[in-house]
Amino acid sequence: MIDIQNISKWYGQFQVLADCTTQVDKGDVMVICGPSGSGKSTLIKTVNGLEPVQRGEIVVDGTSVTAPGTSLPQLRARIGMVFQNFELFPHLSVRENLALGQVKVLKRARDEANERGLRYLDRVGLLAQQDKYPAQLSGGQQQRVAIARALSMDPVAMLFDEPTSALDPEMINEVLDVMVGLAQDGMTMMVVTHEMGFARRVANRVVFMDAGRIVEDCGKDEFFGAPRSERARDFLARIL
Ligand code: ADP
Ligand code: MG
Repeated sequence: MIDIQNISKWYGQFQVLADCTTQVDKGDVMVICGPSGSGKSTLIKTVNGLEPVQRGEIVVDGTSVTAPGTSLPQLRARIGMVFQNFELFPHLSVRENLALGQVKVLKRARDEANERGLRYLDRVGLLAQQDKYPAQLSGGQQQRVAIARALSMDPVAMLFDEPTSALDPEMINEVLDVMVGLAQDGMTMMVVTHEMGFARRVANRVVFMDAGRIVEDCGKDEFFGAPRSERARDFLARIL
């Protein structure tokens, strides 16, 4: 579903990604972890073309992200992305937030967009909040709306960049529970997170990054049981 081949990226002289290669199969849940500044956010943003790369190729569901002629807006419509800071439209109600992309990008009729949006809102347990504005919701609720909004676009894969790290501790689980449900339903997911409990529960692959490189790329059991690199062992020792 996602094929990342030998990508490298520089900001000026600084190399942020160094020859990264990995693949995500349909239904895979890949957790990406590693120290702050190791390039996790940059890597995940290259997948939907939010960050261009200078070398290498990325193909998502048969479409090259890195080829010059690719329409990035169309590609992004097929890849859901959820960030640390919710990023709902503050001036729109929850229902309008859910419908907007469907109407504007997928050209769905307003009624159909509302119906689909509300179906996903129900799925994240927030149907009763449909007329509220983002500022009237808790952080955990806003993040669940952001997930519902991404799902209402019928994405082929979902990208998450530290979706719980801006949340108060008591709200983390309500967001992780939604993500666990998605994973169990077979959604293809790349998840940057420090929540190793989540990784243990639903990841089938773990990528560990350090200084722009993919240092480990293996099955979950291998990663938690016997990471090959000393850096990954150090990292696990510090956060577990
Ligand atoms: P992570 O998500 O693992 O913390 P990032 O991908 O955000 O890492 O950043 C990797 C490195 O690239 C960091 O050293 C960061 O300071 C640098 N970086 C990120 N964005 C930019 C940018 N727009 N310009 C210059 N350097 C950047
Ligand atoms: Mg980051």
